[in-house]
Amino acid sequence: MKYIFRCPFCNEVIMLGVDICPYCSHAINIESSIASSVLLRKVTEACAEANNLKLGTTLAIVFTLINTFLLYNHSVSSMMVTAQAIPFFGLVSVIKWNRNYSKLKTEDNDYLMAKIAMKKVLITWLVAIVIQALSLLLFFSTRTILKPN
Ligand SMILES: [Zn+2]
Repeated sequence: MKYIFRCPFCNEVIMLGVDICPYCSHAINIESSIASSVLLRKVTEACAEANNLKLGTTLAIVFTLINTFLLYNHSVSSMMVTAQAIPFFGLVSVIKWNRNYSKLKTEDNDYLMAKIAMKKVLITWLVAIVIQALSLLLFFSTRTILKPN
């Protein structure tokens, strides 16, 4: 990956190592350009990862629908038992994203959108977990009632 950063004067993306911006001809401070390059890299990483995690919203909804339906019908397979961990991993991945990237100091629009998207995904997973817990509760309570028969 090339080391790039945004010129603090004209906001164009330039290669690290130049001492004069090729676009606006302002003098570039090497130290601040390195810091800016590291930040830009983190912001790019944050946006790419957020794009993957955004699929979590769809996954959470599909999981909740299928899981609730199967538990309600008492059809349990070993695959379904394993699948109970999905919301947990979904939640952990969003929390990890927040820990790594939520405090970047940038006005980058994609990044700000990514932050909003991660909040939505977090809420979706939390709702999914609550519904999952209720479905499991219902599943086990009706199961013990049925057992004596
Ligand atoms: Zn410039």
